[in-house]
Amino acid sequence: MAIQQKLSLMIPGPTPVPEKVLQALSKHPIGHRSKEFQDLVQSTTKNLQWLHQTQNDVLTITGSGTAAMEAGIINTLSRGDKVICGENGKFGERWVKVAKEFGLEVIKIDSEWGIPLDPEEFRKVLEEDKHKEIKAVILTHSETSTGVINDLETISSYIRKHNTALSIVDCVTSLGACNVPVDEWKLDIVASGSQKGYMIPPGLSFISMSQKAWEAAEKSNLPKFYLNLKSYKKSLQSNSNPYTPAVNLVFALDEALKMMREEGLDNIFRRHNKHKLAMSNAVKALNLKLFADEKYLSPSITAIKTEGMDAEEFRKTIKNNFDILLAGGQDHLKGKIFRVGHLGYVNDRDIITVVSAIGNTLLKMRKISAQQVGEALVVVSKYLEEK
Ligand SMILES: *Cc1c(COP(=O)(O)O)cnc(C)c1O
Repeated sequence: MAIQQKLSLMIPGPTPVPEKVLQALSKHPIGHRSKEFQDLVQSTTKNLQWLHQTQNDVLTITGSGTAAMEAGIINTLSRGDKVICGENGKFGERWVKVAKEFGLEVIKIDSEWGIPLDPEEFRKVLEEDKHKEIKAVILTHSETSTGVINDLETISSYIRKHNTALSIVDCVTSLGACNVPVDEWKLDIVASGSQKGYMIPPGLSFISMSQKAWEAAEKSNLPKFYLNLKSYKKSLQSNSNPYTPAVNLVFALDEALKMMREEGLDNIFRRHNKHKLAMSNAVKALNLKLFADEKYLSPSITAIKTEGMDAEEFRKTIKNNFDILLAGGQDHLKGKIFRVGHLGYVNDRDIITVVSAIGNTLLKMRKISAQQVGEALVVVSKYLEEK
């Protein structure tokens, strides 16, 4: 039987939370109109801009990642606007639904789940749009449902050439895991959420808005009130919020961002890359197959095929025997894949442990030999040693 409170979260959110951040959360709340809180907002805003590598406004919303994405869409677009939606997984699918719900005309660019979106298709559709009718390109950078990273840098370069369309990007599992230089790539709208790379519990989301996005906001006619970003921008001028924010989550955010600054962006990216390589190569050594195209693996999640065994049963066994929570497959992938999250507050030990747990379980099922389990761990240590 599992020991209580020793659960290891290896899912792509909520992710593990450091002790310091938990302590910040447990403080008594303070008034959100107080000078003390305003100082906190000033500090978190500055550090959020650092994390996004941008001079743009980065706004904090009380709500999950979906709130930030929806805000990006409804604040800059109008009923009937033509948009491109990139779709190669569950989250891409969600943004198509949101766009349609608000009466946008969606041009879908898709690829099979597990395969990255083809930037050339975006180039073609954008180049053919001579009358500049396309108002936005909406896409997911790291597709959490499949463990694929889309080539955002190339796609955003085509969006810039188009010159009219805004980029509205879900960076929920890429921000704080790999390089997302908002200013360098000229990304207009970037959404993320607290329970992913930020190392804090669910409840806050973030949205970065470029000058061009604010200009579009002047013309947008879609209905909005709580998520009207102009109110957030106005309040932020005095380091405040339009409505009562999740005060304790802001305490946590401040602590987590300070920890991230201490580690440094390059080190954070290197750590995630190293864990991605260790995990994906160990999977192969364990005689399992990666679900995603190996050249486009997400830095934060590895999706693994379980041909000939039920992935849900496998996950349950790992949870019962080792207290490690893995993620399952969604929709048609349920039972066919499981996913290992390695996002946020994850260290080398977590990777060694999860590979050992998977290896041991396969060994007990007589799927692999003890030697193969050993070899997988040698592979892991080889990648973990890389600086
Ligand atoms: C987690 C996640 C979201 C946000 O989902 P919420 O449940 O609203 O926080 C959005 N996109 C991706 C790619 C995600 O992984």
